[in-house]
Amino acid sequence: MTRPLEGKAALITGAAAGIGRAAALAFAHAGARVIVADVEVAGGEATAALVRATGGEAYFLRCDVRSSADVEALVAHTVERFGRLDCAVNNAGIEGTIAPIGESLEEATARVLDVNLMGVWRCLHAELPRMVAGGGGAIVNTASVAGLVGAGGLAPYVASKHGVIGLTKTAALEYAASGIRVNAVCPGLIQTAMLDRLEAASPGVTSALLAVKPMGRLGSPDEVAAAVVWLCSDAASFTTGHALTVDGGYVVP
Ligand code: NAD
Repeated sequence: MTRPLEGKAALITGAAAGIGRAAALAFAHAGARVIVADVEVAGGEATAALVRATGGEAYFLRCDVRSSADVEALVAHTVERFGRLDCAVNNAGIEGTIAPIGESLEEATARVLDVNLMGVWRCLHAELPRMVAGGGGAIVNTASVAGLVGAGGLAPYVASKHGVIGLTKTAALEYAASGIRVNAVCPGLIQTAMLDRLEAASPGVTSALLAVKPMGRLGSPDEVAAAVVWLCSDAASFTTGHALTVDGGYVVP
């Protein structure tokens, strides 16, 4: 079987757990060499070890996407180790706390925007010039169905993910002529620690949403990772600026 990312050099943020970990494993399975980046060291090391245990090539680097210096160092490290940067998955994100806008705190809102929106901006800012210098590349930003529709109680998260889609479309326009494709993936309800935390903060929210959503089940991180691999592969060579839902029909109704 051909491997769609054979020989590609990739970095993935937020890869210590959940969707990012699944993406690291899927990228390696597809033939890519991967830098696993996360602020959480033990989980990041574990992801890299899991990739190597399956015969892939992966290395962990601690990176807090709230830090421009960390993100610049991540891109530089990837290029130093692999000689180039072909693919980037800007996936690190936090959900924030649940509260209506009138009762939420400015600091808590700013924190979500700093990680989810400015974090993606910092990654794009560092990655795009490297990809231009390398002659092209493919980037996938992890947005959410909350980048397409509202979600009561999650205004900072919703605003951040709408912003991620805006950054994605703009970067796609600006860099298409340089051979760089920039897309977003919009997961629906995916079985990860993030969803567990939301369920703990608002018991019953998951089953209530699933009851009115077409497929009526959670998605798996692997189902999102498969879409990210496709978006980064040459099979998606004419796809850019797109926000691809992987949501079991969440935004259809
Ligand atoms: P998760 O909590 O399992 O994983 C998120 C990872 O991001 C963690 O490893 C965490 O350490 C890392 N991270 C957090 N802040 C960071 C920072 N400042 N710098 C670097 N890394 C940081 O959650 P997940 O569900 O795998 O989420 C991955 C992405 O998918 C997020 O952007 C999230 O918003 C998005 N998403 C998730 C769902 C879902 O239902 N789980 C749905 C839509 C979108």
